[in-house]
Amino acid sequence: MLDIRTLMVVVATVAAVNAAAWIRWSIRHGRFAGLAHFAVANLLVAMAMVLVSQRGSWPDLATTVLANLLNLSGLLLNHEGIRRFAGANWPWWRTPLWLLIPLAVASSWHTFVEPSVQHRILWNTGCLVVGFVWIIHDLRSLPEPARALLRPLAWVFGAFAALMGLRWLYTFGQAPIESIFDAGWVHAVAVLAYIAFILMKDLAVLDATVARLIGESRRLAEIDPLTGLANRRMAMVTGAAALSRLRTGDTLTVVMLDLDHFKAINDGHGHLIGDSVLVEVARELAASVPASGLAARFGGEEFILLLPGLRAGDAVRLAEALRERLSGLRAPGAELGRLSASFGVAEAVPGCSLDALIARADHALLAAKAAGRNRVMVAPVAEAEATRDDRVIMPGSQE
Ligand code: GH3
Ligand code: MG
Ligand code: MG
Repeated sequence: MLDIRTLMVVVATVAAVNAAAWIRWSIRHGRFAGLAHFAVANLLVAMAMVLVSQRGSWPDLATTVLANLLNLSGLLLNHEGIRRFAGANWPWWRTPLWLLIPLAVASSWHTFVEPSVQHRILWNTGCLVVGFVWIIHDLRSLPEPARALLRPLAWVFGAFAALMGLRWLYTFGQAPIESIFDAGWVHAVAVLAYIAFILMKDLAVLDATVARLIGESRRLAEIDPLTGLANRRMAMVTGAAALSRLRTGDTLTVVMLDLDHFKAINDGHGHLIGDSVLVEVARELAASVPASGLAARFGGEEFILLLPGLRAGDAVRLAEALRERLSGLRAPGAELGRLSASFGVAEAVPGCSLDALIARADHALLAAKAAGRNRVMVAPVAEAEATRDDRVIMPGSQE
């Protein structure tokens, strides 16, 4: 038989350990808001459980009214932790902590005026279920990506609220209870479930924290901060993966492009205007690349397009259209004159390395520059296999 008093001490221990962990993490990862609230929430629950476990020894006010209020405020403080963690701008009054008011009244009434263990359990459980439904509702109203990040947490709250709903129904129909410690196995299982809830809730928040950290570091590692395009590192990883699929009959064409006389824009209009031109160019590139492809900033004012499934001819057409579009670009706040770029196109041949493929596209790009800029040139495919000769044989077009 599960001993309820012992289980309550276990709840207190688990909550206290988790509180200590959250304190540690909130200090270590200060930029994640809300972690300190999860710590305080667990501390309140731990204190509540110590108080309840002393019922009969310590004053009733402490072991019933105070304990019930500490317990509920601990559980509902998770709402504030979630709000801060998710960065939601819910107004201050949108907190389920309001439920402390009816619980304070009912708990005092059923301790001092009409003492009833059963009614106290009904009020505690009822307020908990309402508070948890409130939390689930607010979790579901979060904007993405926070909502998806915290979906497992909503399930944990939902599962425990459902169990507590069943406990409420059971208690409602139960014969009067003499003492919480002799309330029966259903109540013992409810306290056991409480332990599981605290562990799963905190693991779900921890999981969201880790997922957010991984997302942030991936963004830092893979995305160019100025343009929001993939950076060179990601282009190399994606390109290598696309090349490895070539054996299965797929194709891969890369386009390297470099803005013409970009230094003159910086020199004439300042680096900030130069930056905004790069951002506009990046927007055009991202819009021109098919969903299977990738546009990346290779460095400075050089970009690379990875075009899986496209042959050189298709890529030339895409680059020509892009060349036209870039010439119509305007930078906000500056009269730039015509913008242009030079393009080098190279189609992969089976067995070639990514470096060799990019080098061929780069040579074609240099040839486009040498031929007068603002044009597309293609690296030869036939010679790539045998000699890796990067002579340019096919000019695309020019103005
Ligand atoms: P070319 O037609 O031969 O390519 O001439 P260019 O002036 O475009 O080439 P060059 O290599 O001489 O200059 C590239 C310029 O790009 C120099 C550098 O200051 C600028 N640049 C590189 N990265 C950035 C950036 O992030 N922001 C700004 N504003 N300028 C950048
Ligand atoms: Mg340039
Ligand atoms: Mg350059």
